[in-house]
Amino acid sequence: MQTIAAIPELEEILTHNGISAQQALTLLTAALPLAASSDPQEPLPPLLRALQTASDRLRQQQVGDTVTYVINRNINFTNICEQHCGFCAFRRDATAADAYWLDIDTILSKVADAVAQGATEICMQGGLNPAAKECGSSLCYYQFLVREIKTAFPEIHLHAFSPQEIEFIAREDGLSYAQVIDVLHQTGVDSMPGTAAEVLVDRVRAKICPEKMNTATWLAIVETAHRLGVWTTSTMLCGHIETPADQVAHLQHLQQLQQRALEHDYPARITEFILLPYVGELAPKAMRQWVGHHQPQLLPTLVLTAVARLFLGQWIANHQPSWVKLGLGGATMALNWGCNDLGGTLMEEHITSVAGAQGGTGVSPADLVAAICSLGRTPRQRTTLYHPVGELR
Ligand code: SF4
Repeated sequence: MQTIAAIPELEEILTHNGISAQQALTLLTAALPLAASSDPQEPLPPLLRALQTASDRLRQQQVGDTVTYVINRNINFTNICEQHCGFCAFRRDATAADAYWLDIDTILSKVADAVAQGATEICMQGGLNPAAKECGSSLCYYQFLVREIKTAFPEIHLHAFSPQEIEFIAREDGLSYAQVIDVLHQTGVDSMPGTAAEVLVDRVRAKICPEKMNTATWLAIVETAHRLGVWTTSTMLCGHIETPADQVAHLQHLQQLQQRALEHDYPARITEFILLPYVGELAPKAMRQWVGHHQPQLLPTLVLTAVARLFLGQWIANHQPSWVKLGLGGATMALNWGCNDLGGTLMEEHITSVAGAQGGTGVSPADLVAAICSLGRTPRQRTTLYHPVGELR
């Protein structure tokens, strides 16, 4: 293990366009305990100040001072789910009084409302509902959703279905991941959320989401999407039982995934990295007992935000905090710790809100712009794939 003194100085980090996995681990091991015991309202200890400055300057060097955002709507079409992830307050059994499964007219009216508010993207994900079938096929049901939306709103960018949903459809219908992704892409899915990644370490997954696909399957599905021309995002669920070594292992998987996409010249890659700090106010009891805190710890989250920029920035340029989980104030702070994007308006966020998140379920474009301008940075509306609005999707 390196000591703190061996961590490269700021100039060296900038000269080398980032840090190694070993340096990321050294930084996290030293900085996370310090962050957990420091008051975010007080002046930062020197190590945290150096980390913040280095990540902010590398962000400036790599992507400039513009901060982007997207006008989108989140639609979670069902909360009925066959799985029981330890952190999930969203899922319900089909027999639960508050289980829901939106019909297509309701979904289309939500899309119409979003379009009327200027949305360029619909982000759609749902629970894993074995009853969601058309003619006995899961894939046909998902195709039905996509076809209905894209027939009525051909211009909307459909950012839909997590790798876990792809695995579920493939398992239900006895298809390969490539078959599922290709059919959904041909039907109208434009890009995929890189959710369900949680922490890409099987020991951690076995504890917090034992029924989910393993690390290798998540990576295989996302790489298949890239190979077939479907862009994805990437995420990490942090701040629960994972160690700094687990965090670095996760970031390394994402870095290698992006490197493979570039080396193989796949037609699509990862657009952005989103850090999702754990919210567990209303999560199942076991997880609350393991973790011990129920709202994100701001400074440790900012430390990981900074290390993600330093380690991943040269591979994945766009980094986004979660205003749902941190609140808009916390997310705005993250823009000074390596982030260059504030995400989407969402309009209706359910999955984290029902777990007790305090950031709200939607935010207006004006609020996002005001938050960006408060830092003296330049706001710019973007499409899902990071083109300025008005240009190609
Ligand atoms: S996180 Fe997703 S897969 Fe896991 S229980 Fe919740 S809805 Fe189901």
